[in-house]
Amino acid sequence: MPKKFRTGDQTLVRELNRAILLNLLRVHSPQSRADLAAATGLNKTTVSSLVAELLTTGLAREIGQANSAGGRPAVLLELNPEAGCVIGAELGVGYLKIILADFRAAILWRQEIALVSGEGPETALARLIDLVREVALIAEQAGRRISGLGLGVPGLLDVPSGILLFGQNLGWRDVPIRSRLAEAFPFPIFVDNDAKASAIGEHYFGVAQHVDNFVYVTANIGLGVGIWLDGQVYRGATGFAGEVGHTTFMPDGPLCSCGNRGCWETFASQRALIERLRAAVAAGRTTALPASNSVLGDVTMPMIVEAARAGDALVLETLEEVGGYLGLVIANLINTFNPNMVVFGGALSLADEYLLPPIRRVVEERAIRWAREATPIVVAAHRFDSCVIGGVALVLHDMLSHPGLDMPVGRRSFDRDFSRKVVMPVTDPTPEMLTSRRNT
Ligand SMILES: [Zn+2]
Repeated sequence: MPKKFRTGDQTLVRELNRAILLNLLRVHSPQSRADLAAATGLNKTTVSSLVAELLTTGLAREIGQANSAGGRPAVLLELNPEAGCVIGAELGVGYLKIILADFRAAILWRQEIALVSGEGPETALARLIDLVREVALIAEQAGRRISGLGLGVPGLLDVPSGILLFGQNLGWRDVPIRSRLAEAFPFPIFVDNDAKASAIGEHYFGVAQHVDNFVYVTANIGLGVGIWLDGQVYRGATGFAGEVGHTTFMPDGPLCSCGNRGCWETFASQRALIERLRAAVAAGRTTALPASNSVLGDVTMPMIVEAARAGDALVLETLEEVGGYLGLVIANLINTFNPNMVVFGGALSLADEYLLPPIRRVVEERAIRWAREATPIVVAAHRFDSCVIGGVALVLHDMLSHPGLDMPVGRRSFDRDFSRKVVMPVTDPTPEMLTSRRNT
């Protein structure tokens, strides 16, 4: 079927320019109207008219005056973080996490609940819907409008339809996640793969702001990678790029949740770490972890970090091994993508003080020097929260890309999805990004 194109007209140019101004205010605040005109090349009259629209909708606000050496002091503007609020959520393996945040991703409320392993998608989604109802009520009572919900899930997600085709570690297939949520709530719903959502979150609100090329490595029960290339998340031909956790490391290695053997995530993930500890205990090693004999199923990352800090030899040794495997993954990613940065997040990043030294050592040994020297390995600003912060970013991205004034914030059509190419890039706007210098 031929692609439909949105053709340019005055309305589109105006919307585009409005989006650029709003994004400039998000990235660099505060700024005056003259600053915005200088940054975009738009004339001052146009900027004033667009800013007036943003002030009317409440998306931007005036926050005082700049110091002035002479003449009339300029009024400073910023993106109004309180113009609405956003729900970020993560459907993890064994847990549901949900936050209510403002437009700066400041967390106003949060809750995390455990999911019983083996609970089917219907039960898990019903619990998620209950949590969203709870947070929506809290927002309503506080008089805050909800602009949307962004959810990250592990596995192969078809973003345009919001269907989780295969959640390897959840054991789910063909679950229509977005439509279930959209039936229950009036605000826009965005669903994305957890690693991609996390990468978007770290770009918007974390360590990878202003970074055009980076890879985000999330090590939870599984191992996922979000690839950010040339200013946007890279999805590949059918949307499933980044399944590095399921590339084969050892052909005859352990059986993976995906059905393959020897996948990377059977060596470098929270599950791999716990399996190794379990095997060592079964073989007679001792650990201070509160594990009954050989059963380590209930051991959490905070417990592992606490044991490491107490000098538990088995835990330290196992962290060193898993860190080495993560280092190999990251060295390969550096050789493949030559990124400006590698961001390390997810549950394992809670043990960064023990994992980063072996990661860095292996990268030093294995990655191509000319690529490696340009690539800092940085812990995600939001660590285990990167995915829920990414959920907030999914909503913000859509809102900032289309700050239409014809409808209130948060009442946009449901079929907008993050995978669609939008006119407004989410990197820092530059004058070159203006598709038209015509002032409208
Ligand atoms: Zn696998």
